[in-house]
Amino acid sequence: MKYAPDGEVELSSDPEPPSRGGWYWNPQYSWPEIANALTMPPCALLSMYVLSTALEHNPRVLLITIAALIHLPFSMAFHLTSAFRKPSSPEVLLTRNLDLVFIHLGGLLAAYALSGCIVFTAINAFVNLGLVARALLSQDQSKDAAARGFCVFLSVALYISPVMLTQNYLVYLRMLGELGLAGAFYLFRFAGRWSHACFHILLTLYQYSLLSAAHQPVFQHPPIPFIALGKV
Ligand SMILES: [Zn+2]
Repeated sequence: MKYAPDGEVELSSDPEPPSRGGWYWNPQYSWPEIANALTMPPCALLSMYVLSTALEHNPRVLLITIAALIHLPFSMAFHLTSAFRKPSSPEVLLTRNLDLVFIHLGGLLAAYALSGCIVFTAINAFVNLGLVARALLSQDQSKDAAARGFCVFLSVALYISPVMLTQNYLVYLRMLGELGLAGAFYLFRFAGRWSHACFHILLTLYQYSLLSAAHQPVFQHPPIPFIALGKV
């Protein structure tokens, strides 16, 4: 069985697994999807732990935690639905789209958490809400893995850019490295059908860096004009 980059069966080359009443079980495909679902909570649990141990109340760490928490049920729902329903079923299509919607809404919260800047957040809102609309209007993104991946890449690249501007160069480079490693598992499937679960685990490392970055003070001397505008 051939797998698409995001862990889904490549419909174009494989017949759909046999199903009974809309449900199906295919160990080659269903177990990895269950692993994909079970590797999502650590990211949110880590965020809650870091939030609970923060020395003082930090609303920006809270925003990152909320982003992880709102995405969690939709990501798990998508992977669990994929484990027990045919890839082309309406339930899989719906949960995939909702997973994307909450990735982009989380990106919007992260943009404010990392910048503290209304104008920068507004730019992110313009991009991310456009991507939310794209996800909601999409009928079937199962054969659109490259475009979906690019949309998520665009959202993440945009919201983490303030980390570099805060002069946390080491944190920024670490985040790029963690994202690159996770992305390599996603794209090149080093661990076969378990690659997507590895991708989730590696994103937990990235989440720790994200929380660390949110804990830093936002820039004191805005280096670019639109950020300066947002601070007045
Ligand atoms: Zn996933």
